[in-house]
This record gives sequence, C-alpha cells and structure tokens, in this order.
Amino acid sequence: MGLISVEIKLRNLTNHFRMKERIHLSLPHMGGNEEEFISEAFRTNWIAPLGPHVTTFEKKLEEYLSKEVHVASLSSGTAAIHLALILLGVGPGDEVLCQSMTFAASANPIKYLGATPIFVDSEPTTWNICPHYLEEAIKDRIAKGKKPKAIVAVHLFGMPYQVDEVTAISKKYEIPVVEDSAEALGSSYKNQKCGTFGDFGILSFNGNKIITTSGGGALIVKKPEHKERAIFLATQARDDAPHYQHSEIGYNYRLSNISAGIGLGQIKVLDKHVSLRRNMNKFYKNLFEGRNDIKVFTEPSSDYFSNHWLSCITFSDKSDKNPLGMREALSNENIETRPLWKPMHIQPVFKDAPFYGDGTSEALFNMGMCLPSSSSMNDQERSRITDAVLAYIN
Ligand SMILES: *Cc1c(COP(=O)(O)O)cnc(C)c1O
Repeated sequence: MGLISVEIKLRNLTNHFRMKERIHLSLPHMGGNEEEFISEAFRTNWIAPLGPHVTTFEKKLEEYLSKEVHVASLSSGTAAIHLALILLGVGPGDEVLCQSMTFAASANPIKYLGATPIFVDSEPTTWNICPHYLEEAIKDRIAKGKKPKAIVAVHLFGMPYQVDEVTAISKKYEIPVVEDSAEALGSSYKNQKCGTFGDFGILSFNGNKIITTSGGGALIVKKPEHKERAIFLATQARDDAPHYQHSEIGYNYRLSNISAGIGLGQIKVLDKHVSLRRNMNKFYKNLFEGRNDIKVFTEPSSDYFSNHWLSCITFSDKSDKNPLGMREALSNENIETRPLWKPMHIQPVFKDAPFYGDGTSEALFNMGMCLPSSSSMNDQERSRITDAVLAYIN
C-alpha cells in the first residue's frame, strides 16, 4: 500500500519534471465572446435561471437545428431526458427501451420515474441501438404483457444511429423515441440535424461536450405546447396564481442566464468545433492508415455525418496490440484516453434489467477505446500523440 503510493507520487513527480502537459480527452474550448455575454448579464443584473440570454440561446439553437423544432434550455442533458420521459407519461411500473451502450445518464431518468429499463444491444456499423434487437425486444415485451412506453436511442460519440430503421419501428409499434443527442450536436443524418428526429430530442452542454455552458442541456420538441409544459415543470410547476400554488410536482431544471451567456458565445463557434473535431478524426485515420488490425471509427455511408465528438478505435482480436497496452503507452506520456462507454446491461447497478442482444456492445467495449479529440488540440500535441502511438504499435 505504502509502496504503491510512493511509486505513484514518484511517477507524478517525474511527469512534473518532464514538464509534459496533460493532453486531455475532451476539453472545454472557449470561442472568445463568452465573457462579453457574461458581463452583459452582470451589467443588467440578470443573474437568475431565466433572462434574455436564455431566450436568445433557445432561439439560436432552434435556428441551428431546424425550423420545425422548439427548444427549452435546461440545467443538464439528464434533466432533459427526465422531462421527456415525464412528457411521454412514463411512470412507476412502466418499461422503457434503452440503448445499452451509452453513458448512464441515458438510462438513469427511467429509474427516477420508477420505470424499468429494457436494454438493447448495438449494431456494429454505428455502434448504436440495433434495429433488429429493438424489434425483438418490443415483440417479446408485448408478448410478456407490457408494451414499452418509449425508446431511448443515442447518437454515441456523435455518430447518428440508424435513423430510418429506428423511426420505422417506432411508427410501426407506436412507441415514441427520445433521441439522446447529448454527444451529437452538429451531427446529421441525410442532411437533417441530429436532435430533430425523435418525438423528443435532448442536448448536453456539459464541460466535455462539443460546446459547453459549463453545465446545461436542452429539450427539443415539435409542439410549442410541449415546450411550455417542459418549462412549467422545470420551474417548480407553479400554477397561475399570485401566491405559490402547486397542483403538480415540479423540478428546478432551468438553465441560468449566466450559463446561457456562455452558450451564446459557444454557438458562434459550434460549426468550427465540428470541423476541428472532424479533423482530429482525419488525423487518426492517417495515423493508423495501412494497419488492418486497428480501425478508426467512421461513418458507414455518406448518409451519416458525425461531429466526431470523440474519435475511437477498435482492435481486431487477431492483433498483437490491444486497448490496454495502447492506453498504458499513452498514459506514460501523460496523454488521456478512455475505454468506450461500458454497456448498461453489464453495469452492477442495472444487472437485473432485461437485455436483448448478441454481445456486440460488450465486444466493442472490450476491443475499443477513445482517443484525445479536443477541438483546441495543437500541432505539438498531435505530434506527441503520433510519437506515443507509433512507439507502441511499431
Ligand atoms: C453527457 C451525456 C448525457 C447527459 O448530459 P448532462 O448534461 O451531463 O446531464 C446524456 N447522454 C449522453 C449519451 C451523454 O454523453
């Protein structure tokens, strides 16, 4: 115990004296205008979870996404998923289908509502919810006596899921889709922006996402009355009365006007960030070119446009290299990497939840990893990554 901690301290010290700065997986990247918007909020004393920046931020997001949508900005992407499920009437005892390979925030709100997540495996081309197993799950749940209330589908790492197939199943069985676009702002499918396909879409502006408000999220809806209802629930469900009167349970889920100010600066650089993240993906494609045992995760066809929020690779099981070795080699150079999202059906907290699939997401988890993908990455950092990767694979 003592020895290990001494060793870690020594290693940290060595790293320190080597003066190699950490290369992070995904950093916040300010565009330069954010502080001006924050100053304006201070000047006008709009220091609250409402105000002109909140309203303008929503309008800018609507303009960016589509003329057909309305956006309510919220305190987090998780809050947006929670509200979407509430708007869909999910309650205790219900079942909700959910992509297994994702961040826990896609699934947790199902539990907040006392409902049961039914996890569905990935398909190998987009790594997202597998239409075949989605339909299998629906048929089996109906046969067992309960029709699922909603489908949570995710555009993981920015890669659009198989939108046409998932939408067709949703229509066929009349089960609405909550489109978790937390990682996919700026991605599109057949030239339509991610976040606008589901009955409800959600975004996240957490610090590690493609744009950030420090913390925040948004709910994307098709009907103005859904936006109104979402904002009502997000502001403690206050009835229309001069005193505080409540007929329903509400939440404190609105975005602060300060955070929205950061968002206004960030949305100006969103497309630039998308192109920088996509350049990181090209960088990795060049780096691994000619290796048939290591594959950079890319779009399956020109219908798909990923923001490449994180660039990922997978190792073939015949390779003499593996994610663990690569991660350790990069870590020794103070370069941060991460395994892929660990599927929910193998998470301890969800071990009792039903699962439909063939092991695809678990295989991806075992053979894949995420590489540093920040839009703020410079050439010197890229060449450090190149050196560390080549030293490991050659
Ligand atoms: C980040 C993320 C969320 C949650 O967003 P927060 O703003 O952090 O609450 C949900 N789903 C996915 C896939 C995410 O990556």
